[in-house]
Amino acid sequence: MLIKTDFCLQPFNTFHIKVFARSLSIIGFPADLEELYEEGALNEKSILILGEGSNILFTKHYEGLILLNQIRRMEVKTEDEDWVYLKVNSGENWPALVDYTVDQGWGGLENLSLIPGTVGAAPVQNIGAYGAELKDVLESVEVFNMQTGKTEVFSKAECGFGYRDSIFKTKYKGRYFILSVLLKLSKNPNLNLEYAPLKKKFENRDPGLISVKEVSDAVKEIRLSKLPDPAKLGNAGSFFKNPVVSFAKIEELAAEYPETPFYKVDEENYKVAAGWLIEKAGWKGKRIGDAGVHEKQALVLVNYGSVTGEEIFKLSQKIQSSVNSKFGVELECEVTVF
Ligand SMILES: Cc1cc2nc3c(=O)[nH]c(=O)nc-3n(C[C@H](O)[C@H](O)[C@H](O)COP(=O)(O)OP(=O)(O)OC[C@H]3O[C@@H](n4cnc5c(N)ncnc54)[C@H](O)[C@@H]3O)c2cc1C
Repeated sequence: MLIKTDFCLQPFNTFHIKVFARSLSIIGFPADLEELYEEGALNEKSILILGEGSNILFTKHYEGLILLNQIRRMEVKTEDEDWVYLKVNSGENWPALVDYTVDQGWGGLENLSLIPGTVGAAPVQNIGAYGAELKDVLESVEVFNMQTGKTEVFSKAECGFGYRDSIFKTKYKGRYFILSVLLKLSKNPNLNLEYAPLKKKFENRDPGLISVKEVSDAVKEIRLSKLPDPAKLGNAGSFFKNPVVSFAKIEELAAEYPETPFYKVDEENYKVAAGWLIEKAGWKGKRIGDAGVHEKQALVLVNYGSVTGEEIFKLSQKIQSSVNSKFGVELECEVTVF
């Protein structure tokens, strides 16, 4: 296998941070991974699987081996009157996949329109938006075990999906290269319009007459009005997760700030809007050198020019400590920091 050395990663991360990988191999087929395994290259201590770098912050050069995923192709495995089972290889582009399924009239992915990145990264953090998550449509994940060189299949239940979480991000981080996903999409879509801006957009419409294309277009419109385009302003989407807190904490916050936006996760846990906490702590639109907090969405940290990953990371730490001292709430990074 061809391994490139001192490879510039600036075009391969959406923050556009200029760092280099000591070595990088482009993975076009599962057989490429088998070859690397046979050659002993996967024994390397630090291996990073890279999709489109839209959920990563590089704070330094990457001294290990990067596997750049370009395994493409999708196929309908089976279908009946009601459902389509679509197998999609992990190097496919997620927004293009959503557009394809929407064009077929298949329901399930429309709320996840325009989330940047590859299909293979989607299960890693169980991508979600506008009241939907990948786990709602995922049947199984096919992986290459880099420790044994074998291919395995994980059912949805085995993936341990949670809020922006899965076993691929925690317990088995770095062990499995996700090769493909099997999605179950509906030919009789049951639209999810619970998210407030979508509800408002379609409030005067007969739900039975709304198409998946209309929902997808509405999601795109909302996203484009709120989120900076990484091609123009480097960013990795939400930098932090919405923190999950106890009811006692919600009562404490609401006593001082009655407008605190929160919603119930289960009987004991509530999610608070991280963007609101950051904004209230005075960070929205702030800038330190070329590292900034986006002026429309405080959850998004941006690169105004030639920032280093270290500078973005330091800004994120300042935000974390300021939110903690003001509200007593810890913000956890959603973006993976290297
Ligand atoms: C403008 C913007 C908006 C965003 N909005 C959302 C949103 O609404 N919801 C949301 O959930 N996310 C959002 N994100 C985050 C990002 O789009 C997702 O996390 C996406 O799935 C990352 O895909 P990627 O290919 O770029 O992954 P990368 O950033 O390349 O990798 C992310 C992580 O996944 C691992 N990984 C990647 N591919 C594989 C594989 N094949 N096998 C095993 N591990 C792998 C990597 O090692 C890394 O740890 C947004 C990002 C941006 C820039």
